Amino acid sequence: MNPCLAVSALHFKISQMPIRFPDYMEAMVFTRPQHPLILTRRVMPQPAPDQVLIKVMACGVCRTDLHIVDGELANPQLPLIPGHEIIGVVVKTGPQVVELMEGDLVGVPWLGYTCGKCKYCLRGAENLCENARFTGYTLDGGFAEYCTAYEKYCFRLTPDLAKPTSAPLMCAGLIGYRSYRMIPANALRIGLYGFGAAASILIQVANYQQKRVYAFTRDGDEAGQAFALKLGAVWAGGSSQTPPEKLDAAILFAPVGDLIPQALKQVDKGGTVICGGIHMSDIPSFPYSILWEERSIRSVANLTRKDGRDFIPFISKIPILTTVTTYPLSMANEALEDLRTGRIHGAAVLVLP
Ligand SMILES: [Zn+2]
Ligand SMILES: [Zn+2]
Repeated sequence: MNPCLAVSALHFKISQMPIRFPDYMEAMVFTRPQHPLILTRRVMPQPAPDQVLIKVMACGVCRTDLHIVDGELANPQLPLIPGHEIIGVVVKTGPQVVELMEGDLVGVPWLGYTCGKCKYCLRGAENLCENARFTGYTLDGGFAEYCTAYEKYCFRLTPDLAKPTSAPLMCAGLIGYRSYRMIPANALRIGLYGFGAAASILIQVANYQQKRVYAFTRDGDEAGQAFALKLGAVWAGGSSQTPPEKLDAAILFAPVGDLIPQALKQVDKGGTVICGGIHMSDIPSFPYSILWEERSIRSVANLTRKDGRDFIPFISKIPILTTVTTYPLSMANEALEDLRTGRIHGAAVLVLP
């Protein structure tokens, strides 16, 4: 077995962080859509006054990264260092940084900056900020040895989270949790379409809250269905299949528009279909009768810092176990490809020495 593909529970040694850091770093850089990332030597980034410099320990590979490198998301910063599921240690602070200190373990999520002034920010919906910047999309991210991040958008983490398996919590976990919270609290039977990193985290949250999870994978993906059953799904099947009972809600993580009418047919009266992804193929037309009886469809965009402040302490109660396949930084393209083909179950994570 390729050692890079070993499931790892490797713990980092925070105490071994370098005191001096080099003038250059290595990064996997995205330069144009539908081309591989390029391993590049970059000048060490310097934190702005309200930013920190972070030594990246691990960075998860998310489906959104695939949408970016495939050119499905408009206007990325170019050239770009992708990656928005970062676990790392603060090694330098800008002069206006007040809360974080060198040596702090932090997580850096997708939401990298908001303006605090637009109508969305002012009403507490910073996930919709008109001037938001996103890690690994419009800000350089964590497919690199180091990255900078705005202090106020980093989550301070407890030392037990200093491991590669924590990386998927920063997006798959957070966006999954935000999607989950869109479901009425009394929903009991929950369908998860697309059983990747987000669903594998969310099922643990749902089981903890004694919900019944129905897992939908690509048709014929028996390994994916077995993985879901192992994690506690009460039923697992292909996305075109009908589960044994109606669902109160369904969350779609697979970026496939055809799943919306399929899921609507499975949800009960008053049920909700939540779309957790940033991109989806076109939704085919469908008869009004499957939306009728107060079923609803809604999307989830980004996250707020409150989502993180609620989620991170909450998961320490469960706690969440993530299954990861680890790769060195230089194998980011292989990690993206394995995610694309569904060759891995759980999450792909780049691990840096
Ligand atoms: Zn704003
Ligand atoms: Zn993501």
